[in-house]
Amino acid sequence: MSTTAPVLDKHIERVIVDQHQIADRVKAMAAEITANHPNHDEPLVTLCVLNGSVVFLADLIRHLPIRMLLGVIGASSYRGKSTESQGPSIWHRMHSPVDMKDQHVLIVDDILDSGNTLRLVRQTVEDQNPKSVATAVLLRKPDKAPPDVKAEYIGFDIEDAFVVGYGLDYAGEFRNLPHIAVLKPECYEHDGA
Ligand code: 5GP
Ligand code: MG
Repeated sequence: MSTTAPVLDKHIERVIVDQHQIADRVKAMAAEITANHPNHDEPLVTLCVLNGSVVFLADLIRHLPIRMLLGVIGASSYRGKSTESQGPSIWHRMHSPVDMKDQHVLIVDDILDSGNTLRLVRQTVEDQNPKSVATAVLLRKPDKAPPDVKAEYIGFDIEDAFVVGYGLDYAGEFRNLPHIAVLKPECYEHDGA
């Protein structure tokens, strides 16, 4: 495995999606989003769901050759060293100049797992009466994602495992891995999760 640094690599059991696959797919998703954006003179509000989607969002928006505005919203359902969802909560609402009323909004999140986070975020956006709403996720766990939570753009369907890297963390770490990986079981166990 060639990745970043031995200090990180030694915790990794296996890589699920490597950095080249991610780069190709993010470009293709951006092309789809661009093609579907109804009017390139109207800005697209990209809404970054903190913290996990910052890396994905940063790469994605650089492949969108359209007018855009950036907003952020904080939502989390995995807290501390847990690898089990504890139910989503919004911890940061946008206090930015980005008003979503009558705007085209693209929610950008890292992963669609139980769907509880995206259901809450999407409702929060829809409450602001945007012109349109779509969601882009880099990853989906298809065995778990419920049918009522939509993601119009999906990077990769993955197995039901707790993954890290490319923005996704375990207990705040590993967001800087360039790929999507599963940690060795003892990493979770040693941390008492
Ligand atoms: P959901 O509410 O869909 O169950 O979970 C969504 C959020 O939980 C994601 O945005 C992500 O922050 C976190 N999450 C879900 N699955 C994983 C995972 O496998 N690894 C990590 N690091 N976070 C996850
Ligand atoms: Mg998240």
